Amino acid sequence: MGMSLPKSKFWWQLVFTSSQDIEESIFWKLESIGINHVAVQFSPEDPQQRTFFVWLLSFEWSRSDRENLINSLKPLADYFDVSISKVTWQKVEDEDWSKSWKRVWQADPVGENLLILPAWLEVPQEYSHRLILRLDPGSAFGTGSHPTTRLCLEALEINPPLNLRVADIGCGSGVLSLAALGLGASEVIGVDIDSSAVRASIDNSKLNQIDATRFNFFLGSAEVLIAQLQGKLVDLILCNTLAPVLEELAPNFDDFLLPNGRAFLSGLLIDQAPELAKLFEDLGWHVISCVKKDNWGLLEIQRPNIGKKHK
Ligand code: SAH
Repeated sequence: MGMSLPKSKFWWQLVFTSSQDIEESIFWKLESIGINHVAVQFSPEDPQQRTFFVWLLSFEWSRSDRENLINSLKPLADYFDVSISKVTWQKVEDEDWSKSWKRVWQADPVGENLLILPAWLEVPQEYSHRLILRLDPGSAFGTGSHPTTRLCLEALEINPPLNLRVADIGCGSGVLSLAALGLGASEVIGVDIDSSAVRASIDNSKLNQIDATRFNFFLGSAEVLIAQLQGKLVDLILCNTLAPVLEELAPNFDDFLLPNGRAFLSGLLIDQAPELAKLFEDLGWHVISCVKKDNWGLLEIQRPNIGKKHK
């Protein structure tokens, strides 16, 4: 063989469809093997059905590696009793990859009046009356497509936090904070144990041109929030994480929430709602409602006006 030709550089774009149920597992799996160029698409008419996009550098991924990749996703699908279908591979030239990534993301209407909009898109005419929440779909969780994020956004829309001080625990991309501010909250203080989430929340707040005096995001959890509030209590807690995290945080809530203040808690599976509701009732809270979307739930709870802490 003579001189070797320079390796041509292109991307393999893998596309497949599956269910929303395995979105997180798929992203987690891909990230754990070092794949970060991913995106997901769905239509508002059929939110359960997701189309996944994955970009792989051609010279790092042989045919057998690519086959192995798909095979390694199948057990995830089996576990959730769903399938991975319509698998296609397509070549994408290097200079086009980011364009190709950006094209996947779309305007995403939530509730009656909200619109999640990727940073680079114009507001589509048909959604121009909506409150626009601009997001840079980076690494931090919270593109808005998850049912629990939607439950929280819808709860905020139905109960606009007008002039309220809001705490956002596990802020992720900052999407809930942005909605709260857009719907009239005076101020938001957010925390997350993931530093990329804190950065994303700050960046997305700037992207939405929110006055810098109205938001603060810090690395940490409840203890950091309490320290940063310096005795000033909040009117509303937003917390969309998993049920075990909610359970762990529950006894801390009355350290920073005003009497009569409310909390929108999500990230719980609908099956976990009764137990979590009981936990808060035992702590003296009122459970106002439990809203459901797919297999997920949102608990709206209220701290009583009077009463001691039940620690
Ligand atoms: N609020 C966003 C993101 C939810 S994802 C939304 O609704 O879409 C959950 C986030 O909680 C993640 O960013 C994760 O890093 C964070 N998190 C998990 N456990 C936490 C804890 N104990 N304290 C604070 N944040 C936590």
